Amino acid sequence: MYAFTYQRPTTLADAATAIQAEEAKLLGGGQTLLPTLKQRLARPTDLIDLGAIPELKGIREAAQGDGGGLEIGAFTRHAEVAHSDLVKRVIPALASLAEGIGDRQVRNMGTLGGSIANADPSADYPSAVVALKSVVTTDRRSISGDDFFTGMFETALEPGEIVKSVRFSRPDKAAYAKFRNPASRYAIVGVFVARFGAEVRVAVTGAAGSVFRATAFETALAADFRAEALNGLSVEADGLNADIHASADYRAHLVTVMAKRAVEAAG
Ligand SMILES: Cc1cc2nc3c(=O)[nH]c(=O)nc-3n(C[C@H](O)[C@H](O)[C@H](O)COP(=O)(O)OP(=O)(O)OC[C@H]3O[C@@H](n4cnc5c(N)ncnc54)[C@H](O)[C@@H]3O)c2cc1C
Repeated sequence: MYAFTYQRPTTLADAATAIQAEEAKLLGGGQTLLPTLKQRLARPTDLIDLGAIPELKGIREAAQGDGGGLEIGAFTRHAEVAHSDLVKRVIPALASLAEGIGDRQVRNMGTLGGSIANADPSADYPSAVVALKSVVTTDRRSISGDDFFTGMFETALEPGEIVKSVRFSRPDKAAYAKFRNPASRYAIVGVFVARFGAEVRVAVTGAAGSVFRATAFETALAADFRAEALNGLSVEADGLNADIHASADYRAHLVTVMAKRAVEAAG
């Protein structure tokens, strides 16, 4: 690890000022950033710890006028989402997704903001952000969840922009199913299915460079919200990830299997 200046601001405004320093980096739960620093793959001059900023914490039920659902602060740890009675009541699929992230240590440290800002192609939260018609609020603006993820490890965030919270809309029914890497628990393929009245959203993570919607699945499920409605449907293997864990063809196969499991779990 290279030497850096550690800062722990207590307001979002102070963090926004501190991050303007050249080569400064925001620190969430540190689960991705700290290993990067330890391996000397990054050399920030300043590390801005977001952990002492009350505005970035907490889980609230969103006002009906805002479409209902949940507003979750960026510095909310995965374990807090997994164990929250409010999340279990309003969007149980989100609590279940958080419960399936990594191991206990990772869930106790990793944060929602860090996860979506990092935009790992195998991370679980991006599927919920897209399927649950979310809005990401930063210190500068609101970004639709549909526009937030722009590529592998890439987002719509500008340099130094801080994720403040994510508002997830409340679906009538939803579930997340993932085929996980047995070692890291990251998604080899994860599918989040959410139904809002006549509209169905199917967001796929792990399969490609970035989360995407399976629109043919959405049309079929909007007409008939049963796993059988997906019989004969699949996504193109072309362009999907292929690595030591799974080929592109296998990932394409898993998308249909996980989507069916999610529909069955949503009930
Ligand atoms: C062993 C292991 C297993 C894992 N398994 C899974 C898994 O199964 N599923 C899964 O989804 N994830 C998994 N993860 C990832 C983990 O859950 C964290 O979500 C991820 O490491 C990033 O979150 P963090 O809070 O630790 O962010 P950090 O590591 O602190 O930061 C990551 C990046 O986000 C930036 N950042 C942090 N907070 C903000 C903010 N509020 N606004 C803007 N930028 C910000 C940082 O500057 C940095 O670039 C795993 C990680 C490990 C180490």
